[in-house]
Amino acid sequence: MIDRYAVVGYPIEHSQSPMIHKSFARLTGEKLCYDLLQAKPTCFENAVREFAASGGKGLNITLPHKEAAFKLANNLGPEAQKAKAVNTLSILSPTEIRGDNTDGIGLLRDLTENHGLRLKGKSVLILGAGGAARGIIPPLMEANIGELALANRTIERAHNLAEIFSATNKISVYSFKNLHEIQPYDVVINATSAGIKGENFDFPSNFISPDTFCYDLSYSLTQTPFVTWAYENGASNIAQGWGMLIEQAAESFWIWRGIRPDTRTLLKQTPTR
Ligand code: NAP
Repeated sequence: MIDRYAVVGYPIEHSQSPMIHKSFARLTGEKLCYDLLQAKPTCFENAVREFAASGGKGLNITLPHKEAAFKLANNLGPEAQKAKAVNTLSILSPTEIRGDNTDGIGLLRDLTENHGLRLKGKSVLILGAGGAARGIIPPLMEANIGELALANRTIERAHNLAEIFSATNKISVYSFKNLHEIQPYDVVINATSAGIKGENFDFPSNFISPDTFCYDLSYSLTQTPFVTWAYENGASNIAQGWGMLIEQAAESFWIWRGIRPDTRTLLKQTPTR
């Protein structure tokens, strides 16, 4: 029987993971199928257990389930342990499910290898404190950045993340209401899902300068709302999250299949901004 994989989230129609994994399968000669699996938060655990019981091999986890997937996995890779969030489940048996987190390595590869950004000593502001932010904070800190700040709509969630990750570096926390008080950062990363339902990105612009590298984890075939906002507010170094999506998927593929696909062909086919 052909090995089955899927990406599970809510909403899920926008996900490009099936296209990416099918393309990796073609490139590497691996035989597999990869589908979309929609599950509301209340149905997430059942959806994973049914997929595992029916012989499914692995799941990518997207919003809003990364923290629930961390709780569900019964053995965890090192990046998932640090992030306390999981974006890759490997079904080792119907009752043994391993959780990994490839978001951080995906982001770092895109920033440093695909966009040539040097992170050492840089000040970094992350907007958002959900599952994706959890995955990217530990590897950013390990890249010896100079300063890290977090801002989130729900301030308690940002404080909670700062508490979890502040053991080695101090993390400053801002509510969206205080954003107009802060100075420009070298790198601003949008890790919110604001805009994916078509809303505008309505933020003050004092925390970016023309030299700020603005990176949107969200991605679209056209400009994302954050990318449009960054342009309109004078930034010139701007990228959206296709590269991260492809690189984190390549890492999941490697975990599942033991083969690391070459990402260059797909990277050339996707919009950078
Ligand atoms: P999540 O766990 O559901 O967290 C969502 C975050 O967005 C929270 O911080 C939430 O704030 C904030 N938010 C939602 N709606 C907002 C709004 N209207 N205004 C301001 N803030 C809002 O989702 P996630 O898994 O972290 O994913 C976040 C985004 O990153 C998604 O767009 C996802 O597609 C993208 N992503 C991309 C990649 C990639 O490979 N490119 C990988 C991972 C994630 P509250 O805490 O206040 O609710």
